Amino acid sequence: MPRLYTITPQIWRDDFLCYNTNVNLADLLKNSLDSALLDLIHRIADESSALGFPIYLVGGSVRDLMLARPILDLDLTLEGDAIKLVRALVKKHGGELTTHEKFFTATWTPQSSNSQILDLISTRREIYSAPGSLPTVTKSTLDDDLRRRDFTINAMAIRVDGEHFGELYDPLCGQSDLEKKLIRVLHPKSFLDDPTRIFRALRYAERYGFTIDPESLKLVNDGSRKVLSTLSGERLRHEFDLIFEEPNPSTMLKQLAELDVLKSIRLRITSYELPLLDDPSPAFGEFAVPDMLSFQQTLCWVLWLMNSSVSEIEDVAERLAFPVLLTNAAVFASALKQELPSCKNWKPSQWTFHLDELPSLSVYAVYLVSKENALSEYLSKWQHVKPLTTGDDLKARGLAPGPRYGEILRHLRAAWLDGEVGTEEEERQLLATLVTDR
Ligand code: ATP
Repeated sequence: MPRLYTITPQIWRDDFLCYNTNVNLADLLKNSLDSALLDLIHRIADESSALGFPIYLVGGSVRDLMLARPILDLDLTLEGDAIKLVRALVKKHGGELTTHEKFFTATWTPQSSNSQILDLISTRREIYSAPGSLPTVTKSTLDDDLRRRDFTINAMAIRVDGEHFGELYDPLCGQSDLEKKLIRVLHPKSFLDDPTRIFRALRYAERYGFTIDPESLKLVNDGSRKVLSTLSGERLRHEFDLIFEEPNPSTMLKQLAELDVLKSIRLRITSYELPLLDDPSPAFGEFAVPDMLSFQQTLCWVLWLMNSSVSEIEDVAERLAFPVLLTNAAVFASALKQELPSCKNWKPSQWTFHLDELPSLSVYAVYLVSKENALSEYLSKWQHVKPLTTGDDLKARGLAPGPRYGEILRHLRAAWLDGEVGTEEEERQLLATLVTDR
């Protein structure tokens, strides 16, 4: 018999309280998840059950399951000791345990190489000692765990152990809001506690085509914007990074401006149009900021900022604690975009020697918005053009090492780029004139 969840009504809207019905989503789970994932959930749930810990699929996993969207990360939460559970899993099935005791979280890396790494999290309560601070975390019940979350659609759980498999816990009417396509906060202080939720609300609304509940939207006000202005650059930048992982970031940037969020965090950028990135060329994937940003995120940052002046970019970079690589890519892209009209009649060698000094990502970003053919020629061909002659050849010809080496090799490269030589023999003849010229 599914447990009925009873809660004390401490919430701010009279119509906001949902008494749980006996909804069982076992069939939805069985029909939506592939068999390997289901099998993994059962293995974990069996172990959890043996330890007497009820275990649930929560948050984004439940939301995406109900929206019939692919589940990318398994969010599993248990009312019990996550570290004990992972220890038991490792003992029975092998693999590795990593513990994060402060956060009541343990990670299980199963033995098989194609299994995903799983975070198992003990249900917790979070208390914000001051607006915008990071919360103090203590172990608590599922109910508290759901109430610490951002939006009703992210505050549901489905129990997955034993005979309880499939029971839905939805004390805050998430399912009903999903049906109404509404993003709704759980209490009026939500954006004061954590104003990064403003960014999250816009992301979910845009991603799913939902609306932000008008009462929740009113909470984006002077109070929450003030708290937002106190957040660290890293925390704020992370929210933009997440926006740049979504398919259409422009709309969200525009909304952030309309809600005066950009102004409140001292971003003076006034353009929001980014080209749609249906197909960012994978050939340029190497331009991501290592260990920090994906290629798409890096590119979006540069595309957004390159419409601004260098001093505006530097302000943003300082406020949002940019890595140097990203600042440089944006600054050079901005400069290249501005100087483009004056480069129109350049020879390939002029383009190449100029673009060689810039980060390739800047060149690629400016190409995406300008479609300047010379930029794509540079990226695909010109930058790789080298003369056949090497420094060793010059040495073998008896030329004393020095700056002349570089000049000669540069001259030969320019000749290839500009079509003045096209064969080994022509290069040899040109080299002979250069060497005797000196
Ligand atoms: P996404 O598809 O964007 O990854 P997600 O729901 O899986 O969505 P996560 O950032 O992985 O998002 O967070 C997992 C869950 O943790 C959320 O569904 C939400 O319940 C909760 N959560 C995350 N960030 C916050 C926050 N800032 N405040 C409150 N709850 C949060």
